[in-house]
Amino acid sequence: YGHARRKGNPKLLFMGMRRSGKSSIQKVIFEKFSPAETLFLDPTTRIEPSTMESFIKFESAELPYNLPYTAPDFDRDAIFASTGAIIWVLDMQDEYYHSITKLIETAVFLLETYPHINFEVFIHKTDGLSEEYKYDTFRDVRQRVADELADHGHADRGIAFYQTSIFDHSVYEAMSKVIQKLLPQLPAMESLLNKLCSACRIQKAYLFDTISKIYLATDASPTFLKDYEVCSDYVDVIVDIKQIYGWQTRGQDGVLVTDSSRESGAPGESLITYDRSGNTYIYAREINDYLSLICIMGQGSTADKRVLIDYNVSILHEALTQVFKL
Ligand code: GDP
Repeated sequence: YGHARRKGNPKLLFMGMRRSGKSSIQKVIFEKFSPAETLFLDPTTRIEPSTMESFIKFESAELPYNLPYTAPDFDRDAIFASTGAIIWVLDMQDEYYHSITKLIETAVFLLETYPHINFEVFIHKTDGLSEEYKYDTFRDVRQRVADELADHGHADRGIAFYQTSIFDHSVYEAMSKVIQKLLPQLPAMESLLNKLCSACRIQKAYLFDTISKIYLATDASPTFLKDYEVCSDYVDVIVDIKQIYGWQTRGQDGVLVTDSSRESGAPGESLITYDRSGNTYIYAREINDYLSLICIMGQGSTADKRVLIDYNVSILHEALTQVFKL
């Protein structure tokens, strides 16, 4: 992947059958709806782009699955030329045969006409299903898509699959991975996090977009949904503490401003706490108004390392400023 990393804001297009969950996913992630609030959403009939003002401006929109892109007067470039990723949402709780047919048709068209676009498939609404059913369905869908693509001569083209539900963290994790592929700064961020982890013996580090709780990068160690769940809850803790104690930042417009009071490691700007659920220590720090760093540390590494970590995080902060050329 990575061929679709382009300049500008990541632009995402959601496609899939009616009622598959396209609007719900966007409302929950970008507009902070609760999952229950999506129950009675009106069907989308027009292309309604929405943007989210955060560290990275995500643009997302929803397309009708029967978009007449083969019609001669259809302005394909207007829709696809600047798109980074198509997310095909497939309702796992519904009869999905027809959706797969449409998915293949669309994927083949895009692979041939707009090969820069990443094609991502959310096998959606996994909540309430048994592990066995989820596993079998996931395999079935993936296999059918792979077979059909091979029949069309696209055996070598990567399509990524994710199991998602708006009722748990899975949809955030999937969106994180989709968006990361569109960030030209990803390799730099990853290597900075790798360095931080080895310098401070951190198990897992996530750099979060604070508002959306999408993680922009993580270190190279294996990624588990459980770790993401624990860490994303601490993003909320950071936001709460900030509201209560008013951690001041001078960053504006997503700019990583070097704030001297933060560089000195003033108390209150980082937090180390013991997380019972994971039996681990958590280090949480707001990098600026838009970015948060959350790290999981093993049993051995305790709070006395805080000064060391704070110091290394200030180096990370400097480097991120360089990476984003701000
Ligand atoms: P769209 O037509 O593709 O935009 O579909 P909607 O977003 O309007 O969703 C259709 C229905 O599916 C709504 O009643 C949602 O509450 C429901 N839905 C969306 N996501 C999920 C999910 O992850 N799990 C379950 N069980 N229902 C979902």
